Amino acid sequence: MENILDYDFNGLKSKLESEGLESYRAIQIFDWIYQKHIISFAAMTNISKQLRESLSLKFSIDLPELVKKSKSLDGTVKFLWKYKDGNTVESVILRYPDRISGCISSQVGCPLNCAFCATGMSGYIRNLTSGEIIGQILGMEIEENEKINNIVFMGMGEPMLNYDEVMRAIRVITDPKAFKISQRRVSVSTAGIVDGIIKMANEPLDLVLSISLHAPTDEKRSSIMPINKKYNLKSLIESVKTYQRIKNRRVTFEYILFDHFNDTIEDAKNLVKLLEDIKCNVNLIRYNDTGSGFLKSTDQRASEFEKFLKENGIEAVIRAEKGADIDAACGQLRRRTL
Ligand code: SF4
Repeated sequence: MENILDYDFNGLKSKLESEGLESYRAIQIFDWIYQKHIISFAAMTNISKQLRESLSLKFSIDLPELVKKSKSLDGTVKFLWKYKDGNTVESVILRYPDRISGCISSQVGCPLNCAFCATGMSGYIRNLTSGEIIGQILGMEIEENEKINNIVFMGMGEPMLNYDEVMRAIRVITDPKAFKISQRRVSVSTAGIVDGIIKMANEPLDLVLSISLHAPTDEKRSSIMPINKKYNLKSLIESVKTYQRIKNRRVTFEYILFDHFNDTIEDAKNLVKLLEDIKCNVNLIRYNDTGSGFLKSTDQRASEFEKFLKENGIEAVIRAEKGADIDAACGQLRRRTL
């Protein structure tokens, strides 16, 4: 049986038509599931009983099973989900004054093996389907009984390596008939898959592109992010410029500060040079220990790094740490074995 969450709106319309059902039913089904959080066909009361029965013979509405929920003192909530095949992923709700953000996973594990990342250390299993990605959001909204209005693809996995399923999920996330989240409030974070960045530049979507940069030279970056050997900084920066030229949008760079590895003033100078000509924000992230051997920059080194960037015309901010007490901070989500 097919998971109905795997369909975007147009896909579901065509599917219903091909099954001899009225395509306008897709509007009602989307409304029940995504706006009313009803996950049983039997409870969709404006649809005839006969049709409800026929829908439930053709489709399932598969939410992942909640295995564990951890709440942080700062309001961050981390969820551990289990899919039908037993694989697990994590997702997180982060609360800010202006938004409730869902940080979601796109793969079970990740094949990119970044040296500092808890997910990378736990290996790669498989891509998630769009329905499995969406199931995390729906599950979090139902669990917390609140509406998420910002999505970041920064959980487990490299979204650009699961491009088609991620884009299908984004069409549902941004669909006014489904989650209704503004395109400008959806960030796709990549470790630098250049082909994916170019493809995303040509999508009819106005998404935030976020680059996990973490080092300002090829030598340093390749030593912590093996993907840099395939797509070096020159090709990455070129693709970001292409994205910016087409979309005319600010790009975000994520930069985890590792003590005495990438947090010197020399590193800051190299970063300024690398990002010249790009309209961007740099999020400086305080490293959370994942057992990788890297250490967190001191407060003083982090502030000096930030100050240097700002003095040289780069919009930089040290990102507030959230959820560190429940291992929900950046790079800390991992595949759990149950
Ligand atoms: S940092 Fe991102 S790209 Fe790198 S291993 Fe972790 S999840 Fe994958």
